[in-house]
Amino acid sequence: MLSDERRAILLQQVAFYARLTPEERARFERQVAAFIERKVILTRGVELDDRVKVIVAAHACRLTLNMVAEEYSRLQYVHVVDSHHDDDGDRLLGSASANSSVTLEWRALVDGARDERDGENVGYHEFAHVLDASDGVSDGVPPLLLDPTQRRHWQRVVGDELEKLRGAVELGIPTVLDAGATKSEAELFAVATEAFFELPERLKNAHPELFMLLADFYRQRPDLAASD
Ligand SMILES: [Zn+2]
Repeated sequence: MLSDERRAILLQQVAFYARLTPEERARFERQVAAFIERKVILTRGVELDDRVKVIVAAHACRLTLNMVAEEYSRLQYVHVVDSHHDDDGDRLLGSASANSSVTLEWRALVDGARDERDGENVGYHEFAHVLDASDGVSDGVPPLLLDPTQRRHWQRVVGDELEKLRGAVELGIPTVLDAGATKSEAELFAVATEAFFELPERLKNAHPELFMLLADFYRQRPDLAASD
């Protein structure tokens, strides 16, 4: 059970929560409570309070709201930090490591929870990487209980989209997906997940096949009417 205090944080800080149906809310709250219970959330430069825990869990559980029994089983640690940089000293909003810990920059995470229409959400991005890698391979093809034909279809669509996107970025054509998606199939999946939840209408129009893959995978149809 989620405490009233934690529910109040969802209401105040997590924009999509208010739009869930009562049945979805009940399920979501159970998932958020379980996530907080089972995962180790650590902070650096940020006070570890309920707000941190609830906002982290809300991002993870938004993705898996309708995925029965998906509990990020390989994920153990979530690090929430005041600043995060790559080896060159450039700012990183987040990262997901091979052994399935996730690091999230607190400011970016809070922004993502509040502003859900800009197509950027570091929480969705990094937790998508965790789902992708839950079969041990980060390849943009999450483990799917699918027959080989469906798996091939997924690989084909992701491959085609990556090629198209690389072409568009090279020509300077504006794209719905951030250019970071051109790095690899894994990045495409994570960036597309951000767009799926935040810019569903635009993603559907620009990348209908990719949109359908994600809708099938997440078993959700982000509410198109209210978006973009
Ligand atoms: Zn990434």
